[in-house]
Amino acid sequence: MLPHDVLTISHVRAVIESKEILRDISFSVKSGEVHVIMGPNGSGKSTLAYAIMGHPAYHIKGKSAQVKINGKNILEVASEDRAKAGLFLAFQSPIAIPGVSVVNLLRTAYQELHAAPASKDKKNIQNPLLARRWQGADMTLAEFMGKVNRDAKALRIDEAFLTRSIHDGFSGGEKKKIEMLQALILLPKFAIFDEIDTGLDVDALKVVARGIDILSTRGTGVIIITHYQRILKYLKPDVVHILVQGKIVKTGKASLAKEIEDEGYQKYL
Ligand code: ADP
Ligand code: MG
Repeated sequence: MLPHDVLTISHVRAVIESKEILRDISFSVKSGEVHVIMGPNGSGKSTLAYAIMGHPAYHIKGKSAQVKINGKNILEVASEDRAKAGLFLAFQSPIAIPGVSVVNLLRTAYQELHAAPASKDKKNIQNPLLARRWQGADMTLAEFMGKVNRDAKALRIDEAFLTRSIHDGFSGGEKKKIEMLQALILLPKFAIFDEIDTGLDVDALKVVARGIDILSTRGTGVIIITHYQRILKYLKPDVVHILVQGKIVKTGKASLAKEIEDEGYQKYL
């Protein structure tokens, strides 16, 4: 059964260098829903993603501004605590971390988010070495690795990538697939993908769309940020929002993306 989580964004404003970048943004996302935020370059899409996630340079303004998960306002808490509350952001340009392998990062992040109190970690007791190093709450390290391998396969990620330094020398498509793998493994309540479709060839685009489908089927509420409707050929969103000059000018069904494809953003400018 799907979880029943709700992410509510209300009256969000952001000002950068005295320029109003986001103007009174409100919408809400439920578990398993796929929302697409479309808008021209510079309309504030990345700013919205950063602001929701709590990037220190992108402060949310406004007395009535709120970002809530299941009714609890998370605007006052730091990014890492927003992650613990169930938010995940895949960056438009993820950074490389030489020396930290993909699988190590996944393992550390998973433990951070799903750590079991040591005494409850019964499943690993048959192997004391693993028990010391692995503190996943709900599965053994072997089960975790099995899951990583299965999801990597579904995303057509070559096994060799899992032991390479994360994003170090990865192509655009490889980076986006690794970001998707992180989301599938960490299974956040809500995931935001900033331009996950940019620079992908058709094959990678299909794989990423499939990843989003799997993620939402597992219960994550998904927000896809894009300025193309290209990915929507392979993915049917529940809701499409059009963001122009920092404001949501229209919200509709998947057909709204088609309208943008045909007519562009012109009439909203
Ligand atoms: P999008 O992702 O839709 O292309 P952004 O959110 O990146 O748009 O940017 C929206 C506007 O905010 C742009 O005018 C951009 O120049 C400005 N902006 C974004 N980040 C910064 C920053 N750190 N400092 C100054 N201006 C910024
Ligand atoms: Mg952007």
